Amino acid sequence: MKSVDAHLADILATVRTLAPLELELERALGTTLAEEVSSPVPLPPFDNSAMDGYAVRAADVSGVPVTLPVVDDVAAGSDELRAVGPGHAVRIMTGAPVPAGADAVVPVEWTDGGTAQVTINRPVQVGNAIRRAGEDVQAGEVVLKPGTVIGPAQLGIIAGVGRRRVWVRPRPRIVVLSTGAELVEPGTALRPGQIWDSNSFTLTAAVRDSGGEGFRAATVGDDPAVFLDQLDAQLVRADAIITSGGVSMGAYEPVKEALSPLGTVRFEKVAMQPGMPQGFGVVGDDQIPIFALPGNPVSSYVSFMVFVRPALRKMRGLPAGPPETVTAYVLASLRSPAGRRSYLRGVLADDGTVTPVHGQGSHQLAALASANALIVVPEDTTEVPSGTAVQVMPL
Ligand code: AMP
Ligand code: MG
Repeated sequence: MKSVDAHLADILATVRTLAPLELELERALGTTLAEEVSSPVPLPPFDNSAMDGYAVRAADVSGVPVTLPVVDDVAAGSDELRAVGPGHAVRIMTGAPVPAGADAVVPVEWTDGGTAQVTINRPVQVGNAIRRAGEDVQAGEVVLKPGTVIGPAQLGIIAGVGRRRVWVRPRPRIVVLSTGAELVEPGTALRPGQIWDSNSFTLTAAVRDSGGEGFRAATVGDDPAVFLDQLDAQLVRADAIITSGGVSMGAYEPVKEALSPLGTVRFEKVAMQPGMPQGFGVVGDDQIPIFALPGNPVSSYVSFMVFVRPALRKMRGLPAGPPETVTAYVLASLRSPAGRRSYLRGVLADDGTVTPVHGQGSHQLAALASANALIVVPEDTTEVPSGTAVQVMPL
């Protein structure tokens, strides 16, 4: 049997980082920056007021209370500014440029709020409530480096330096394709022998959760020819394909039967539980990676977390390797088959303990849904006593 590490290494050696493209800012959330972003101007571009109040010369308000004439009113966006002469005040709003001559802003709360003249009740320090030009960013300064994942705040600074479009590695487009003659759409009635398709929902959501764009293709039955047709139709819009089901040792294994003859997809037994049967390779003229995951719901999700999620990171241009784990103390004893790495479903608590959930079968979807972590038991370990430190993959 192939080791988990060797299978992941093969996958990471095959999948390629997506080429950069230029996107409108509105479409850049969750993508990976592929250029250096710098600011053409200082930020803030000009000295401006941090508060609503009065721009003054600090020396004029050292003895309080003091009443000064208000000679002008500047709102944010004003560009016609009258200088503040000695003994004068200018009413000023947050974000408005500080007029020449003024060296401090008195917050309105320290005054009577007057409009023709203002009485100021507290002295101010020079520079009070003034945001200086370049205080955030100098002209020409790099604000974001390539490889940064673009979240809301990163979008904000890209817009804040005046950019409308940005070079990024896009979110990988991943088509999810469930196979199984027994599967029907949730929301429709079950006939004997049927179950509702759940894997395509889990896997599509897992793709989105991992920074990809997930597309859920219509489920196909167990006919390899129908599967190939559907695969063909989906390839045009995919950076990678995930299939579920049809890769085991039985009869009616459409994915295995359809893809094995191509010679570009290998079906192997990987030393893990759940998720032993795994297919991986490339399909189509563009050599699109395909992950053929087993159909049991827990197996397909665990396989996604162990193999597909790291591959998605590589496609996104991010550092990619085995899933990260944390150490926790297990609150029950565990058993694990010799020679296979186990991923047991557990509840990881804030106090650093993890409790295995009831129902460790690879079909037990409800037990999976009650877990928030996978307890990883190494290949050479068959028994883990309660209280032992274990490695845990948060889900
Ligand atoms: P297979 O890998 O196709 O042999 O399927 C293994 C088990 O997983 C069978 O019990 C299937 O009914 C079940 N299964 C396969 N695909 C799905 C799916 N999309 N949603 C829920 N269960 C599935
Ligand atoms: Mg099947």
